Amino acid sequence: MELTDSGLLKAQAHVGGTWVDADDGSRFAVRDPASGAELARVARLSATETMRAIDAADGALAKLARLGAAGRAALLTRLASELERHAEDLARIMTAEQGKPLPESRAEVAYGRAFFEWFAGEAPRIYGRVVPPPSDDKRVLVLRQPVGVGAAITPWNFPSAMIARKLAPALAAGCPMVLKPAEATPLSALTLAELASRAGAPDGAFNVVTTDADGADAVGRALCASPVVRKLSFTGSTAVGKLLAGRCASTVKRVSLELGGNAPFLVFDDADLEAAVEGALIAKFRNCGQTCVSANRFLIQAGIYDAFRDRLRGRMETLQLGPGDRDGTDLGPLIDGQGLAKVERLLDDAREHGADVLLGGARVDAQTTFYPPTLVEGVTPQMEIFREEIFGPIVTLTRFDDEAEAIALANDPRAGLCAYYYSRDLGRGFRVSEALEYGMVGVNTGLISNAAAPFGGVKESGLGREGGAEGIEDWVETKYVCFGDCHPTG
Ligand code: NAP
Repeated sequence: MELTDSGLLKAQAHVGGTWVDADDGSRFAVRDPASGAELARVARLSATETMRAIDAADGALAKLARLGAAGRAALLTRLASELERHAEDLARIMTAEQGKPLPESRAEVAYGRAFFEWFAGEAPRIYGRVVPPPSDDKRVLVLRQPVGVGAAITPWNFPSAMIARKLAPALAAGCPMVLKPAEATPLSALTLAELASRAGAPDGAFNVVTTDADGADAVGRALCASPVVRKLSFTGSTAVGKLLAGRCASTVKRVSLELGGNAPFLVFDDADLEAAVEGALIAKFRNCGQTCVSANRFLIQAGIYDAFRDRLRGRMETLQLGPGDRDGTDLGPLIDGQGLAKVERLLDDAREHGADVLLGGARVDAQTTFYPPTLVEGVTPQMEIFREEIFGPIVTLTRFDDEAEAIALANDPRAGLCAYYYSRDLGRGFRVSEALEYGMVGVNTGLISNAAAPFGGVKESGLGREGGAEGIEDWVETKYVCFGDCHPTG
């Protein structure tokens, strides 16, 4: 990996402002998913070192408080500048460990940076209230204070931005953090810790506890059980989110969950066909279909169905598979063998139940996890591929006749993260937006994420919101103060 600043590549964990190894010296390998080459051997921490990181974070609470809102805003602004200065190196590290094409890694770095810029603006605006009292001898104040030490557990699919979405509001509010990144992508997280230090973050304000998948449970248990940790912010699968939320109940922690989706992508007869196809490509193939907001189910009205399918197929045939650092690559590899096995299982089930594969449908070779853009039609709600998050480059087509049928198909009994639809009918725009049971709706666009908007899901897709004015709420506690003996003068 060629970097301009080789000091950004770290293999030790970051605890209390210091780079540390595991107590027993153990390490795990981080590999390039495109080639299988080993990129680094990273410190494999356990519950013991996690407890140390929690103590370090506890010690940083007062330091962040002393900075004041203006000081924390300045810290976030400096960190955003560091991210901008080192954007290319960050993108290269991300592509190496995650596999996404370099332009997508650059876009993720910019997306993550936007959260530090946004929350630098929010830090001085965490206002309390003075409330008219019920009697003239009382005064009622509502204070807004940091929740306390936060824990974060993040996935591999957005190795930097999923951390930025949590770290930026946490620091803005004055909450130190202990982060456990995914086994597959710890390098981007460690780079962020290095840049936070360079930006002047107090020691202990941002700790990164690295471990592998076998160590994740022990580290997670330590974070969930600690009474010092007052909040867990988790992004990942719904199954692990439920497990962790259950564990946090023992200390009645605040829990924010950004979990899996099963996004419908509706195209009505009156849609702009070309725009719908371009939107579909973005919503489906970004990060090779491995995003929580990836369109999972394409629901197409009968009148436009054939034209949409044929045009999309033509565009899919031009997509280039390859290593993320090769010019012209549109799709990198799937993250690992497990991800590949899931895609294959879902497609096998669809085939068995009568779906037709029009394009792709088989791994590229037996040695790698590359999987081609795949188009399937005749998909029904009875098939697993309709009900489960695919997390791969498969477009499933289902035909519908009218709006009511479309809504019934689109609303999932469990998932409720994000939905998309294309239509030029303004009235339908309001009706459909309101009827879709999702936390986010993209109308005539396949790309909805931005730092100014509240990102999050309903139902089993999550709790809480990240980004926007709402993003700070998860990191702020409300305290009510009642002053007595305040009789008016005279
Ligand atoms: P995952 O398996 O749930 O892993 C997420 C994180 O949890 C990783 O750091 C993982 O560590 C850790 N983990 C796993 N088991 C744990 C345990 N028992 N205790 C503590 N930590 C544990 O999810 P993933 O496969 O990495 O990510 C894909 C999922 O994330 C998809 O469902 C996607 O939709 C969802 N996602 C949601 C959003 C959103 O904003 N809603 C955004 C991105 C992704 P290891 O990696 O070391 O196993």
